[in-house]
Amino acid sequence: MVSRVIPVDSFDLVLFGVTGDLARRKILPGLFHRFIVGQMPEDARVIGSARTDMDRAGFQNLVRTSLLEFAPETAKSNEALSAFLDRLDYVKVDATGDKGWSELVETLRPDVVRAFYLSVTPSLFGPIAANLSEHGIATPDSRIVVEKPFGRDLETSKALNAELRRCFDEHQIYRIDHYLGKETVQNLMALRFANSLWEPLWNSTHVDHVQITVSESLGVEGRGEYYNRSGAMRDMVQNHLVQLLCLTAMEPPSKLASNAVRDEKVKVIEALEPVPQSDIVRGQYRAVSGKDSYVEHAGDPNSLTESFIAMKINIGNWRWAGTPFYLRTGKKLRARSSEIAIVFRDPPHMIFPKMEGRRGNALIIRLQPDEGITLRTTIKEPGPGGMRLAEVTLDMTFAEALGEQAQAQDAYERLIMDVIRGDQTLFMRGDEVEAAWEWADPMIAGWEGAALRPAPYDAGSSGPEDALMLLHRDGRRWREIE
Ligand code: NAP
Repeated sequence: MVSRVIPVDSFDLVLFGVTGDLARRKILPGLFHRFIVGQMPEDARVIGSARTDMDRAGFQNLVRTSLLEFAPETAKSNEALSAFLDRLDYVKVDATGDKGWSELVETLRPDVVRAFYLSVTPSLFGPIAANLSEHGIATPDSRIVVEKPFGRDLETSKALNAELRRCFDEHQIYRIDHYLGKETVQNLMALRFANSLWEPLWNSTHVDHVQITVSESLGVEGRGEYYNRSGAMRDMVQNHLVQLLCLTAMEPPSKLASNAVRDEKVKVIEALEPVPQSDIVRGQYRAVSGKDSYVEHAGDPNSLTESFIAMKINIGNWRWAGTPFYLRTGKKLRARSSEIAIVFRDPPHMIFPKMEGRRGNALIIRLQPDEGITLRTTIKEPGPGGMRLAEVTLDMTFAEALGEQAQAQDAYERLIMDVIRGDQTLFMRGDEVEAAWEWADPMIAGWEGAALRPAPYDAGSSGPEDALMLLHRDGRRWREIE
C-alpha cells in the first residue's frame, strides 16, 4: 500500500524545553521524519528554546547528535539531515524571566501557523503562556501544546487549566496523550464505526467483560523520584487507560469532529461508577535479585506508592451495565505489552461437548508491540474422531497487512501534524481531564488516607496475586501478559 502524505500549512513551531529528554528523544525525531516524507512545507521552521546558552550552529549540532542517537535509520542520509538542520533556529529564553521574548517576536513570521510546544515541567506552563500573551507572540490562531501531567488531582488540574485559559482559548490548547496518537487506538474508532459487524455486539448483552492492559517491562529507574510522587494511578490510569476505556465504551459520535468525539468521551467518564477499595489492587515490585526493587529506584525505603494497579470498573449506563471493565497497568512486569480485549459471552446453549480450557470469543486490539487485531474464534478440531472444538485466532498485524505505511508514523509525529492542521480530536479537552480527576480523586484519597501499603510482586512477574483474584472471584481470568 502506498503511503499518502497530506500536506499541511506552513508553520513556525517553537519547541520550549528543546534540550530536554522528551524533545530530543521523541519530538525532534518525529519532526525529522515528517520532513523526510515531505510533509513539512518548504518554508516550515522549528525554533528551539531553553535556557542553555548556545547559538544557531550549537543548536544544530545538538539536534544532529540527537537525531543520530534517536533516529539513526532516518538520520543516515547526510543530505536530508543537513536540509532539516537548515530549518532550525534557536532562541534562548528563561520561561520565568524577561529576556529572550523580544528575540522570539523577531524570529517568528506573521502569516504562518504558530505552534508553541511546551516540553517543560508543568509549573512553567503558566509563565510561558503569560509571556507569550504579554509579548504579543500568541495570536488568536496560535496553538499551545502541553504534556502530561495535567495536575495531580482535580484542584491542581483546574488551576492548570485556568492558567492556560487566561491566555489561550480552549480551541487553541492541545493536551497531548501520546496513546491517542497510536495507529491502533485510532483504528479502534474505524473498527467500531466503519464496520456494521461489531456495533450490534458492542454492549452488555454480548460482551462479558473488557480487559485493558498496559504492561511495562522496565522499572521506574531514572524517573524514580518523580514517579514516587505520582504512582500508577496518577501516571497511567487517570489519563492513558481512562482514554482507552473511553474510546472502547463511548457511543458513536454524530460526526468525526473533535468536539463530537470528545463530548462522547466525557459522557463515559461521567458514567464511571466509584470504585470501592475492595475492587482495587495496588502493587509494588520487589527485586528478585540484586537491588532492582521499586524502593531502591525511588530512593524511598518506606514508599507507599504503587508501581502496579488493577481495578474493576463498572460503567453506569444502558450500554454497559453488567459488563465490567478490568484495567491493569504496571512496571517491571513480565513483558512490554498493551492491549484491549473485548471478551464475548458464550452462546446461550452449547450443543458441543465441554472443551477444557475454552475461553470463548474475544477481539483483541494490540497497541504494542506489533500493533494489530486478533479475533479468537472456536472451530472444530481438524481430523477424524468425533466433534471436538479448538480455539484459533484470526490475526492481523498492521505491519504485515499494510506494510511500510503502518510503521510510517510514531504517535508524536502524527499528533504534531494534527496540531498544525488544527485538529483536536486526539487531544484531551480540559473538562475531560477534570472529569477523570473527579472520578479518580476519592479512590486515591481512600488509600492515601489509610496509608495502605501496596502488595509486593516479583520483578518480571504478572503483578501481585491479588490482581489475579480480582478476576478469579468473578469466574474470569486475565489474559497472559506476553
Ligand atoms: P527534562 O529532560 O527535564 O527537560 C526540561 C527542559 O526544560 C529542558 O530543555 C530545560 O532546558 C528546559 N527548562 C527548564 N527550566 C526552564 C526555564 N526556567 N525556562 C526555559 N526552559 C527551561 O524534561 P522532559 O523529560 O523532556 O519532560 C518535559 C515534559 O514532558 C514534562 O512535563 C514531562 O512530565 C513531560 N513528559 C515527558 C516524558 C518523557 O518521556 N521524558 C513523557 C511524558 C511526558 P534548560 O535547562 O536548557 O533550560
